[in-house]
Amino acid sequence: MTLPLSDTLVTYPAGDVTGAATVLHVETLADGRHAVLLDTTCVHPVDAGWPDQGPDRASVRVGDADYPVVDCIVGATDGSALFVGRDIPVGKGTDGWAFVAVHVLNADAPIGEGDSVELIVDAGYRERLSAGHTACHLASLALNRAVADRWKKEVRLDALGFPDFDGTAIDVSLIIENGSVDTYRLGKSLRKKGFVTEGIAEALPALEAAISATLAEWATTDAAVQIERDGERLTDRRSWVCALPEQTVRIPCGGTHAESVAALGQLRVALSLADVEGTPVLTMETFASPNGRGTDEL
Ligand SMILES: [Zn+2]
Repeated sequence: MTLPLSDTLVTYPAGDVTGAATVLHVETLADGRHAVLLDTTCVHPVDAGWPDQGPDRASVRVGDADYPVVDCIVGATDGSALFVGRDIPVGKGTDGWAFVAVHVLNADAPIGEGDSVELIVDAGYRERLSAGHTACHLASLALNRAVADRWKKEVRLDALGFPDFDGTAIDVSLIIENGSVDTYRLGKSLRKKGFVTEGIAEALPALEAAISATLAEWATTDAAVQIERDGERLTDRRSWVCALPEQTVRIPCGGTHAESVAALGQLRVALSLADVEGTPVLTMETFASPNGRGTDEL
């Protein structure tokens, strides 16, 4: 069978953690492992362009035996070759290209094109990443609000109408179990856009308290969280939609999420400032505590 020229259908945005699939293509990677393409998947793949949420932990059932999915990465094909992760030479939506979830299996997995398989995702790990991802979006909105008075020029606004510090200054966003770690560069280009960095080191405790207070307020509501999507394909546009008391907010997002803000338990953040080769870098760690358990207590 040749490489499929349609995007993988994805069911993880709807919260699926199991599902049947048909193997469309198998090829051997340079390290001997298998790259497996399926018609549909419930396994969340990591995106090389914006790798904030890592791959699900999962296994593939072939016949009566389960084989671990050791990695799951977004790939792309023009029908003649498969490109994985950073090797993808084109942007999403390029004509003639399909974007696919590449399931990586060890060399000993007996899998072949045309096989019917079952996918089983580690539901607990998914749930903790989903809680972390929702907490990350909420914390970014609370951070934007807390530093809103530090802008002296107009910048784009976030989903709540505050200057979008998060979207403007973000360097790396990493979703972890029940939390996230986001880093922001407070360098020359941000200051040129009108962000005042003077005195921010001294202001950290007050900012931390303001963000945590906003989060605590949201945590007491039972605001619903949903993922809206234009279609079932890997590349179809998806948005995180959260019904906050102020207003319903939408943020473009390809990840997985908790079903409500209340499911996150208590939320808080820790801010720190470091100097990275002359550029001040702000780090915000966000902690959720679904079921009363926080990442810091694991
Ligand atoms: Zn997101």
